[in-house]
Amino acid sequence: MMFMRDNKQFDVIIVGGSYSGLAAGMALGRAVRSVLIIDDGKPCNRQSPFSHNFLTNDGKTPMEIAALANLQVRGYDTVEFFNGLATSGIKTENGFEILVASGETFATKKLIFATGIRDILPEIDGLAECWGISVLHCPYCHGYEVRNEKTGVLGNGDAGL
Ligand SMILES: Cc1cc2nc3c(=O)[nH]c(=O)nc-3n(C[C@H](O)[C@H](O)[C@H](O)COP(=O)(O)OP(=O)(O)OC[C@H]3O[C@@H](n4cnc5c(N)ncnc54)[C@H](O)[C@@H]3O)c2cc1C
Repeated sequence: MMFMRDNKQFDVIIVGGSYSGLAAGMALGRAVRSVLIIDDGKPCNRQSPFSHNFLTNDGKTPMEIAALANLQVRGYDTVEFFNGLATSGIKTENGFEILVASGETFATKKLIFATGIRDILPEIDGLAECWGISVLHCPYCHGYEVRNEKTGVLGNGDAGL
């Protein structure tokens, strides 16, 4: 079923509504483009208890930062939100149609993927549960908090080490 809010085709659909998607949404919303942000709420940093090395947000939880960004973007009536997973898309004559897991389809002229990256973790028992908490990929973000503690390094070949 083709779902066009108020029978409209969006100017831009942004798939992914974390930091990148929200930043794009704000810029486009302020440029008076009609925007739909589709997001299923699984940012890569969701297990991290705190974010660091990001001026004005140091020590906040990733969710606090995202929630404030979300609130600010919601201030623009040019931007709409849909909570759910985008599962496929097709090119149409006028742009694209994006299908979400619940079955609706949204039409747009332009499409932005702000879906981030997916970390593919080594299959080591317990590692996934510790990701972002005590298994840390970024010394600039989290190294200070574990300074002077015993550290193991997991590297991918010589370059990783
Ligand atoms: C464990 C960890 C800790 C980190 N700590 C820090 C830190 O302390 N300081 C710092 O500066 N940076 C940190 N980073 C980096 C920071 O989190 C990323 O740079 C940032 O999240 C990238 O934002 P993004 O919007 O590109 O992607 P993400 O934040 O990953 O967001 C992608 C979004 O797209 C959505 N999405 C994906 N596919 C679909 C789909 N098909 N349909 C609908 N929605 C979809 C996801 O649900 C998600 O909400 C950390 C990263 C990790 C992994």
